Amino acid sequence: MSIIVQKYGGSSVADKDKLELVCEKIIEEKDNGNDIVVIVSAQGKTTNNLISKAKEYACNETSISKKDLDFLLSTGEMQTASLLSIMLNSKGYSSVCLTGSQAGIITDSNFGNAKILDILTENILSYIQESRIVIVTGFQGIDKFGNITTLGRGGSDLSAVAIACALGSKKCEIFSDIDGIFSADPKIIPNSKLLDNISYDEMLEASSAGAKVLHNRSVNMAKEYNLEINSKCTFNDSKGSLVQNEVKEDFDIHFITKKDDVSKICIVGPMMLSNKEAISKIFKIASDENIQIYMISLSELAINIIVDTSKSQFFMQKLHEILIEKRNN
Ligand code: ASP
Ligand code: MG
Repeated sequence: MSIIVQKYGGSSVADKDKLELVCEKIIEEKDNGNDIVVIVSAQGKTTNNLISKAKEYACNETSISKKDLDFLLSTGEMQTASLLSIMLNSKGYSSVCLTGSQAGIITDSNFGNAKILDILTENILSYIQESRIVIVTGFQGIDKFGNITTLGRGGSDLSAVAIACALGSKKCEIFSDIDGIFSADPKIIPNSKLLDNISYDEMLEASSAGAKVLHNRSVNMAKEYNLEINSKCTFNDSKGSLVQNEVKEDFDIHFITKKDDVSKICIVGPMMLSNKEAISKIFKIASDENIQIYMISLSELAINIIVDTSKSQFFMQKLHEILIEKRNN
């Protein structure tokens, strides 16, 4: 029998009343005789608050080591997992909570944005065999040296999808406070429509263009393993939206989205269109520094690049250093 994997986001687990509703959903599956693994986010704004706290305690922001910060941030999800397990056990449903490390989530050592390298499912499966509800902290893993790592903001989606893939599940349910995936952000466009289904590729386009529904890397992984993602709401019984492989051959428009907080960087010089060396250096810097390029356009005299505003100053410095300062060294 396939194991059901459910993920509950920060707003779904924000307080005790909401966790009660989460318990109900889990218990319903359990009572139907299903095995279930639950991945949780930190409660409400916990992760943001922990980041502010780290800044408050450091003499200056730049002195905060990414490793220390991951150690701190991982505690957010641990609180949710343990509270949920305490609640389920007290209702007579045997459950166990696991950290990323106990759940066998092995990552590289790129603190703050670690990549999942492997998932060792033995521990999860042994608790499933004992018929226990398994609760796993999202957003975190462990590197080969035993350090706690985190997977990047919103990374609990990725934890859930990765665990579902590793367990061979057919579907991963991602619960949040909205009904599913809409044709536009319902906060900006009140008439937006709930979509029954959408393809992986459309979802990837939309989420890299700013739709804040699902973590981009989680959609990529689901696509790779052909795992269906069901995005649904914790607070009602709507069936939500399915992200799946189907590609429809029609002219229906599914999605309109926009991205805020981006900056355009402009690199100027003669013969830019044929400057292959510059172009490959730009991509190399972006990949070395983990900076996502959303769009690049070339013209005879300029290369224009769109990146997150938060990274633009740093990226510009690096580009200047490599393309101008070190050009003839
Ligand atoms: N708690 C983490 C964050 O706020 C991970 C997540 O919620 O997915 O980014
Ligand atoms: Mg989230």
